[in-house]
Amino acid sequence: REAKNKMPTYKGLENYELVEKMGDGAFSNVYKAVDLTTRKKIAVKVVRKFELSASQAGDRHLNPQFKKKPRVTERANILKEVQIMRGIQHPSIVKLNSFSESMEHYFLVLELMDGGELFHQIVKLTYFSENLSRHVILQVANGIRYLHEERGVVHRDIKPENLLFNRIEIIPSKNPIHRPYDESKEDEGEFIPGIGGGGIGRVKIADFGLSKVVWDEQTMTPCGTVGYTAPEIVKDERYSKSVDMWALGCVLYTLLCGFPPFYDESINVLTEKVARGYYTFLSPWWDDISVEAKDLITHLLCVDPAQRYTIDEFLAHPWCHAAPAPPPPPT
Ligand code: ADP
Ligand code: MG
Repeated sequence: REAKNKMPTYKGLENYELVEKMGDGAFSNVYKAVDLTTRKKIAVKVVRKFELSASQAGDRHLNPQFKKKPRVTERANILKEVQIMRGIQHPSIVKLNSFSESMEHYFLVLELMDGGELFHQIVKLTYFSENLSRHVILQVANGIRYLHEERGVVHRDIKPENLLFNRIEIIPSKNPIHRPYDESKEDEGEFIPGIGGGGIGRVKIADFGLSKVVWDEQTMTPCGTVGYTAPEIVKDERYSKSVDMWALGCVLYTLLCGFPPFYDESINVLTEKVARGYYTFLSPWWDDISVEAKDLITHLLCVDPAQRYTIDEFLAHPWCHAAPAPPPPPT
């Protein structure tokens, strides 16, 4: 972590005091910051207007599954990200508070997610219990349902680095009370215990940099406009929501066992495995995981997008409604 005195200053961001760097990508840095007017803590995503050279744009993680796609931050792209985020309000989605720009940078002022990336929590805990996985994935799924069904938005970059916790609470209890995730108890103060008595709060979807508004599947129109759109575009977009469902399956698989469904040292072999949908429920890691969980994953990691579960089918699956296991007896 960078020390306070090493924080950069940005022209156009004088209203905020940067506290620490929380994330960095090829074209953006995310900082924890204080709004000097309200004294509230927020996050600010600073996006460089000009591209860095390829050598400067390094990947953070060795696992190719989590590789960051380099992208050109054209004005149109960032404005699309901002426009999509502006139209969105849901407890499972990181809120955009404001947007501004200077000559060199774009600034997205975001709701602060203090608990870090889901990626880091998986690394820390090795894997999640089925109850904790359900608690996490249902929050993500409810966010996706809102995007797909109410906003016609496909996220297109669902992965553990773009799923953020708003806080982590460690509960010092030998006999934690297991509670199912309850959407109506929106959120503050709601948690279920994880492995080792740790508890985890709200999970939200971040990074709309690759997201897109899609065509309505029934009427084949974008937001109600009957257009002059070519059939290949309409066909192309028919299953576009299903990319988020595949990604949701990958995240759920990874939560439950601690490693991704598709992995290989060689990018060519990995690409081939993904293309054929070749994955296994590897023993011994998957031996004690419920058949319902495996059945759900099978319907998500399904190569044919027409066969893949939609978000409503996902949410209707028995695993999503399973009663949590009773708490372990006091020791
Ligand atoms: P990129 O397009 O570079 O992937 P992201 O929006 O995903 O940009 O942000 C990069 C990283 O910064 C995230 O993976 C996360 O670690 C951190 N981050 C992003 N938004 C927030 C936020 N609102 N609060 C805390 N950390 C954040
Ligand atoms: Mg990201």
